[in-house]
Amino acid sequence: MVFTSDVLIIGAGVVGCATARALSRYQCSVTVLDRGCDVAEGATKANSGIVHAGYDAVPGTKKAFYNVRGAEMMPEVCRTLGVPYDQCGALVIGFSPEDRDHLARLLDRGVTNGVSGLRIIEDPELHELEPNLNPEAKYALLVPTSGIVSPYELAFALADHAALNGVSFRFHEAYLSVSQEAEGFIVQTRDHLYHCRVLINCAGASSADLHTRLSGEPLKMIHRRGQYYLLDRAVAAPFKRTIFQCPSVMGKGVLVSPTVHGNVLLGPNAEDIGDPLDTATTQEGLDFVLSKARRTWPGVSTRLNITNFSGVRAHLEGDDFLVGPVAGVPGAFEAAGIESPGLSSAPAIGQDLAVQVAAFLGAAEKEAFVPALPLPTPFRELSPEAQREALRNDPAHGNIVCRCEVVTEADIRAAIRRPVGATTIDGVKRRTRAGMGRCQGGFCSPRVAAIIAEETGISMLDVTKDGGDSRLLAGTVEAFLNPEEGGAEHA
Ligand SMILES: Cc1cc2nc3c(=O)[nH]c(=O)nc-3n(C[C@H](O)[C@H](O)[C@H](O)COP(=O)(O)OP(=O)(O)OC[C@H]3O[C@@H](n4cnc5c(N)ncnc54)[C@H](O)[C@@H]3O)c2cc1C
Repeated sequence: MVFTSDVLIIGAGVVGCATARALSRYQCSVTVLDRGCDVAEGATKANSGIVHAGYDAVPGTKKAFYNVRGAEMMPEVCRTLGVPYDQCGALVIGFSPEDRDHLARLLDRGVTNGVSGLRIIEDPELHELEPNLNPEAKYALLVPTSGIVSPYELAFALADHAALNGVSFRFHEAYLSVSQEAEGFIVQTRDHLYHCRVLINCAGASSADLHTRLSGEPLKMIHRRGQYYLLDRAVAAPFKRTIFQCPSVMGKGVLVSPTVHGNVLLGPNAEDIGDPLDTATTQEGLDFVLSKARRTWPGVSTRLNITNFSGVRAHLEGDDFLVGPVAGVPGAFEAAGIESPGLSSAPAIGQDLAVQVAAFLGAAEKEAFVPALPLPTPFRELSPEAQREALRNDPAHGNIVCRCEVVTEADIRAAIRRPVGATTIDGVKRRTRAGMGRCQGGFCSPRVAAIIAEETGISMLDVTKDGGDSRLLAGTVEAFLNPEEGGAEHA
């Protein structure tokens, strides 16, 4: 089948979704395609979730420009879309006089980049602010404008709002070839052809490959994995703020941070890998994370660790983002090499690309732009009176499917019915938190699968954890008992 739109965005990560939402204000048709089964299947689902203030990026770079602007936009974007965000602040801690010099350089950079409120603090203020810090920490850069956000919930909300304004999303669609023609571009996937006047490369780990295919200019990307521990919410948060150590050339180092949902996050390390899809965790990587985290928080224990995960950074050799028109290829735009602080920068990158693309197309703003739908408040967050009311309106709230995180059947059905709704167990998990708790879905996954099957009309045998071959069920008992009736393959 052939699909035609004015604009085709490749990649439904936070940058592709922010771009789609910003473009949906204009009079042009927009399609987003992604090789994954859902929004946020790349780096956007596995990162630290920090809205960096902008003290780390080298002044004059695109990283610095988009980070500071994106961080300024983030509170309003999150408020409008109902995404969890907390401007909890951050400390970058130092142990030695050399570290103090490093902190002074970060302070200077931050001031040059336009970050407000930065200052260096020492004892006793440092340990009064964060009493659980390693007593050997002597100095810190205090960053009051740093925040935390749920990265994939941000992407889901951006995608929903874009879809409400006419953007279509197509999953399981990896680009295989891209060619330029007189009127634009043709993108081929395994099953379909996409025609567009404007092509926007938001392909994360594949963005250098796509850049090269479009421009003929080689672009070297290094895929750099970072691994994490996520501790149970039963662990009392040791710090109010995100705590970093002095950064290195490999990144911002191992942090200890609260998350917007009340967990504690430790990580990431930084290791260059060959395969951008290799999101394994390793004993060596996790041991490194733990040893670094212990230097920040001597009392750390992983007894209540509930999961480990990793994400892959899309690091360009030039160490900066590529954002804007692809040189020498009219109609092609890109956001390539969007590693950290890409999450923080996404609203600003999306807005900039949309303005540039609308100007290229000569597209005016729409007269009617549909405001974001308020997300339904999860049952667990309602007051007892509001819970009674919710239950009267929808008895499916009376069925608690995920006991760890208190997620009701009605919460799950609402997540599947969103404009870009969940179609997999992990899609439900990231939208509702069903399966995010201590048992990590051990109890609720089968029930979630049954609800997905009911809502989407597919067989439970075809429900996957996360797309592809990740089916939950191998077959039915009936088919197992009667292999001669042709059910063996599902047995
Ligand atoms: C370990 C780690 C920690 C980080 N911490 C932070 C942080 O605290 N704060 C911060 O600001 N940033 C952080 N980042 C960076 C941030 O996660 C990224 O910058 C951001 O998620 C990039 O978004 P994106 O949309 O460009 O890429 P992605 O989220 O990777 O999206 C790209 C999309 O393109 C799709 N795609 C790829 N190839 C193809 C293809 N061939 N065909 C079709 N689709 C394709 C993928 O499936 C994916 O959905 C971190 C990153 C990592 C890995």
